[in-house]
Amino acid sequence: MKNSFKKSLFAIGILFFVTACSVSDQVEDFSIRTYPDRVLFQPCEKIKNKDPNAKRILDQMELKLAETDRGVGLAAPQVGLSQRFVVINLGEGTEHKYRLINPEITWKSPEQSLSREGCLSIPGIDAYVPRHERVKVVYQNDNFEKKMLEACGFLAYCLQHEIDHLDGKLYIDYLSPKDKTLILKKYFKQTKRKNEK
Ligand SMILES: [Zn+2]
Repeated sequence: MKNSFKKSLFAIGILFFVTACSVSDQVEDFSIRTYPDRVLFQPCEKIKNKDPNAKRILDQMELKLAETDRGVGLAAPQVGLSQRFVVINLGEGTEHKYRLINPEITWKSPEQSLSREGCLSIPGIDAYVPRHERVKVVYQNDNFEKKMLEACGFLAYCLQHEIDHLDGKLYIDYLSPKDKTLILKKYFKQTKRKNEK
């Protein structure tokens, strides 16, 4: 009796350890998820007001973005978190850095242009996709204050690309089915080659 009690306690211990590990992995991993990881297709959850993890997650995402080669934006699903966070860094200086909680496009200009885009989650390929030339975005800052951002050109394209990620949408989804198939074929070929090395 005693033995089986001990055994079940041991089993509970293992279970607890495994659960604790998987929870901390989800929060602390922050590795870049690549296509076709399922997290990239899921619509993200809205961040609750005053979420105590928000600042830490945005800090980690900024660090991750800085580590990448030429990445200018990162959305939370790209690091495995299905939550509505985006960071953008267009270059030196804080005026080119954006940390956005629950960003939402509230206005898009009727004029569109072709934007040449790549994505850290689909490395090695790029394509031209149509984007609105100007957008207005409402978001919350680190202190959960409501802010509005009006952007044009490259920043506007970036915002559209990253906010699409929060809805489980990727830039290749704007391509014709034929072009999407072709580009994915190229991507999988490259990935296979990289994995063989
Ligand atoms: Zn992307």
